[in-house]
Amino acid sequence: MKRFISLFLLIYSVAAFGQNKVLKIRTTHLTGNIYVCTSYGILDDGSVFPANDMYIITRTGVILIDTPWGEAETSQLIDTLRSRYHKKILLCVSTHFHADRTGGVDILKKNGIKTYSSLLTKQLAKQRGEKQPEFTFTGDTTFNVDNVILQAYYPGEGHTKDNIVIWLPQSNVLFGGCFIKSLDATDIGNLADANLKAWPFSIEKVKAQFKDIKFVIPGHQGWQGDTLMFGRTLELAKQASR
Ligand SMILES: [Zn+2]
Repeated sequence: MKRFISLFLLIYSVAAFGQNKVLKIRTTHLTGNIYVCTSYGILDDGSVFPANDMYIITRTGVILIDTPWGEAETSQLIDTLRSRYHKKILLCVSTHFHADRTGGVDILKKNGIKTYSSLLTKQLAKQRGEKQPEFTFTGDTTFNVDNVILQAYYPGEGHTKDNIVIWLPQSNVLFGGCFIKSLDATDIGNLADANLKAWPFSIEKVKAQFKDIKFVIPGHQGWQGDTLMFGRTLELAKQASR
């Protein structure tokens, strides 16, 4: 009976979150024309957890790095950007195949927005029943949108086999996604697709690759501390492999 009640409570609490619209997105200015969008997902234990994606306002539109966590949340961001800037989203680059990076891809497609990921990300998304970005690239790829430069870099396995980071060389911002852990993180998080052995080596590659980093945005939680998050990620990966 006790088990039945707790299951009932869990279902009820998930339903209540949906109805109360707790999952409203939040946007925060980072630097220049770059912003972080925080959306919220509900974990298996019923708790609400934040995820960060990023957007950059260009002369003619908006560049999105990762979709918000879910379709309703992505629709909220599309509406927010339209009413705030009167500009359309030009494209979105997803940094790995999980739903907190790709969950809104179909909504973006419906709105005529080009969705990109690495070929490996698209393949994994297909295999795992996640939403698939339309266009793919292989190897490290540079995007130039209205003279805003985005560099997609694959450091090796870590949080997932396909995780990439995005470097904005004109503003020295590194979008780390779920490959980088926040200083707020108390554990390494979802390890279902992680490679704990490779992760520290991949972190070292990112450290060697990018110099003069001013901001680092992790996939979840706060982004204070910037490059200190590299050390935090190493520490949590070590802790988890013990
Ligand atoms: Zn994540």
